[in-house]
Amino acid sequence: MNKQPSQAFIALGSNLENPISQIQQAFEELKQLPGTCLMKQSSLYQSAPVGRLDQPDFINAVALIKTCLAPHDLLNALLAIEQNHGRVRESLNAPRTLDLDILLYDDLQCHDEKLTLPHPRMLQRAFVLKPLMEIAPDCHIPGHGHIAPLLATCNGQQLKQIKAI
Ligand code: AMP
Repeated sequence: MNKQPSQAFIALGSNLENPISQIQQAFEELKQLPGTCLMKQSSLYQSAPVGRLDQPDFINAVALIKTCLAPHDLLNALLAIEQNHGRVRESLNAPRTLDLDILLYDDLQCHDEKLTLPHPRMLQRAFVLKPLMEIAPDCHIPGHGHIAPLLATCNGQQLKQIKAI
C-alpha cells in the first residue's frame, strides 16, 4: 500500500437487476476498501446503451476517492466488487449488473495488459464526462487537456440526470 494517498476517479455503471441500487451499494463498497475514503459522488445519470442497442438504459455515476491502494491493487479490488454484484463477463458493451472503471489515478499515464490510464474509453462518452465534470469541473485529463472541450464534443449523446446528490 502507498504511504501517501492518491486521488482516483471511478466510473460506475449498471443496467441490470435494479441499477440504481447497484450503484448506491457500490458507493458504499468503495467506502469499505482498505486505506480508502470516498470524497465525492456525482448524481446518477441515465444513458442510452452504446454499441449494442438491444438492452436496457444504463445508470451511470462517478466517484472521487482518496486511496492508499496502488493502481493495480485498486483495479483488483474493483473487479472483486463487480464479482460480488454477480457480474458475468460477456462481450464488450454487453449488459452488466455493475461496471467499475478507474478513469484517472493522480496524473498517472500507463498502459499494460491489465490497466490503461487514463481510461481509454472515457474521452468520447458523455455518461462518463458529465458526472466527472459535475464533481471536478477543473479536471485535467493527462495527455488530453481540460475536460470541458472533451465534453463539448459529446453533445449529441442523450443523458438524463435522474437523481441529484
Ligand atoms: P470492462 O469491465 O469491460 O470495462 O473491462 C474490464 C477489464 O479492462 C479489466 O479486466 C481490466 O484489466 C481492463 N482495464 C484496463 N484499463 C482499465 C481501467 N482504467 N479501469 C478498469 N479496467 C481496466
